[in-house]
Amino acid sequence: MTAGLNLHSHLEGRVRPATAAELARAAGLPTPPQGWSAALTLDEPADLTAYLVRVAASYPLFRDPEALRRIAYEAVLDAAADGQAHLELRFGPTTHVTAEHDLDTVVRAAADGVREGSEATGVPAGIVVAALRHLDADANEAAARTPARASGSGVTGFDLAGDESRWPAHEPFAGAFSIAPAAGLGLTCHAAEAAGPEAVADAVRHLGVRRIGHGAHLAEDAEALRRAADEGVVIEICPTSNVWTGAIADVADHPARAFLDAGLRLVLGDDNPVQTGSPLSAERAVLTDRLGFTPDELAWLDAAALEAAFLTADERRAVAALLRAPESSP
Ligand SMILES: [Zn+2]
Repeated sequence: MTAGLNLHSHLEGRVRPATAAELARAAGLPTPPQGWSAALTLDEPADLTAYLVRVAASYPLFRDPEALRRIAYEAVLDAAADGQAHLELRFGPTTHVTAEHDLDTVVRAAADGVREGSEATGVPAGIVVAALRHLDADANEAAARTPARASGSGVTGFDLAGDESRWPAHEPFAGAFSIAPAAGLGLTCHAAEAAGPEAVADAVRHLGVRRIGHGAHLAEDAEALRRAADEGVVIEICPTSNVWTGAIADVADHPARAFLDAGLRLVLGDDNPVQTGSPLSAERAVLTDRLGFTPDELAWLDAAALEAAFLTADERRAVAALLRAPESSP
């Protein structure tokens, strides 16, 4: 059975703990006091800041392009093993730039790993370059220009990620979001994950996005919800992750049903499955088992994902075939 399309997943949140241990040993990095598994995961739900600290525990491993290529390759393998028909893999390349390895090298390493993973599994996958909320406009605009130079390498989208509770404004990123579409990239933006419902309209206005990551707080304001539906917003929902970041108390509290009732299109992602322990197939089970999605509603979600995914027409046909294949889960 297919797990569907994974349209919201972070490369930095898909580092296998065993790979982290191996790469750290090879690079001479210190082992975290409780081991890599504990360093990368939370014991209990917290807030976005604490959650991102666990994601960031993987960052030292990204300084070597060969390690980065392997992490990206394994991410696609893991997605295929989970039955995913497509993986959009987002990451913030600027974080991983060093004196030896520039932005182009970092993006190319990730794209190479993704391409090799796709070739090995037959699962189409793409890189989404993420601007980061704590960086200045120059740094994010440089990240937006990188995909143009890496044209044809598999970079398909542009995102804004980072700690929304500390840097909620969208206007500073308008420049980067005007550059990315010129390189043929689709746009998405984390919004209303930690900030209030108004963040969705703000991201639409300043960044020109229609895809919104999480939108966990959007349903708290009926007018904001109606406006998002009117504007054709697509919400990338990641219910379990929203529990771990403290956006909601329980997956049963996730506003997916309110989004559906308001006429919003929904797509699914697993965000940071190493941190949450919940890959896309488990998130799909949350939709059916905890949030009452019917088979028709799941089919509607898949159709929305196929349409919203940053795919070429040929890739879209390939993903549609994988979705239909009953044996698509290896
Ligand atoms: Zn995310």
